[in-house]
Amino acid sequence: MTPEGTRPAAILVDGERIEALVPLDEVRGNTQIHDFGETAILPGLVDSHVHINEPGRAEWEGFETATRAAAAGGYTMLVDMPLNCLPGTSTVAALEAKREAARGKCRVDWAAWGGVVSDNQSDIESLAGAGVRGFKCFLVDPGIDGFTMVTERELREALPHIARTGLPLLVHAELAGPIEAATAKLGGADWKSYATYLQSRPDDAELSAIRLLLSLCREYRFRLHIVHLATHRALDELRAARAGGLSASVETCPHYLHLAAETIADGATLSKCAPPVRSRHNREQLWDGLAEGVIDLVATDHSPCLPSMKQLESGSFKTAWGGIASLSMALPVMWTEASQRGFGLADITRWMCEGPARLARCESHKGRIAAGYDADFVVFDSDAEFMATAERLYHRHAVSPYLGEKLRGVVKATYLRGQVVFSDGTFPGEPIGREYRA
Ligand SMILES: [Zn+2]
Repeated sequence: MTPEGTRPAAILVDGERIEALVPLDEVRGNTQIHDFGETAILPGLVDSHVHINEPGRAEWEGFETATRAAAAGGYTMLVDMPLNCLPGTSTVAALEAKREAARGKCRVDWAAWGGVVSDNQSDIESLAGAGVRGFKCFLVDPGIDGFTMVTERELREALPHIARTGLPLLVHAELAGPIEAATAKLGGADWKSYATYLQSRPDDAELSAIRLLLSLCREYRFRLHIVHLATHRALDELRAARAGGLSASVETCPHYLHLAAETIADGATLSKCAPPVRSRHNREQLWDGLAEGVIDLVATDHSPCLPSMKQLESGSFKTAWGGIASLSMALPVMWTEASQRGFGLADITRWMCEGPARLARCESHKGRIAAGYDADFVVFDSDAEFMATAERLYHRHAVSPYLGEKLRGVVKATYLRGQVVFSDGTFPGEPIGREYRA
């Protein structure tokens, strides 16, 4: 899969980089050849939205297990969110602690987003200088110790600093007001029912947050990125804002493109995330948004927890942890859905390689198979099918809403900077992943 489309070719690799793409009959001389036959070779996937949780919550996940799952899923670069780890990545000291925690453990490359929290406005520019790829904040309580939301006033204090760095601000776009109002109306509703949870987090919570962000973007002229868009109802306003020249990019996640509220059973808290998975109709509108380009990219929001936190016994959508871990399954989940709708591997590459690489500002080295780029590849058998089983997850805890599903597309091997890091269920060699610091 080249930037110009699919074609038979040989990828010449010299050390860590791609030297050239040439016709097959031009490979000669003293060259070690790996022949993948008819199998597709995609650029290594880039995931711009991952919660690795280390340091501080390594019992939930960690660099070793997250990057192992990533390699098995065809990812060669992860960008870690600043929360769920302790300390949250909202100071330079916390970033250094994360670097220390990552050392020697990574199977793929990684980088960090910095946090914008209620009281760290004066740390923003030093975090940028220390190497974060951009920033992340919450407009609603993230529901975890160690990371605070920002009010509009606090965000306004941060935005001039963010604009000066030129880095993107990624925002969890839900406002508390509509959530509290909707929850108050629920009374004694049954929290084992998915419908109750869905009603508690209405589309309006996302819509009102996105409206606020677009108006702040007009005022402060920073690079805005909406993470995990779950409602299609914001697409018209996002389209109009972008047409008007605002720098506002949008992501959605495999679970919003695969699951649907109508089929989430009572007590099936493995599918709980925030914002919530909405209706089947909504899901199809998100696919249209991707096709059109209003949604730029697909990131996993890989967000693992201890199995007990999913509250599978009580089945309560009120108290269960909201988060879906999907690094090892995201590509097959996406391909299963995309291929049914007539999309091709070029679309997958745009959404899961090029788009996230551009957001994380590593697009000069990652996300493309072209001369000069890192030799990061996925050998992907796009016709093969498999059953999602616990043994194929590879993240710390085998917790996933996808278990038992038949999925299309098998990751046969993953190469990171010229070296094989995953091959048919094994992870050869030492962990060579490192922080991306270009
Ligand atoms: Zn997240």
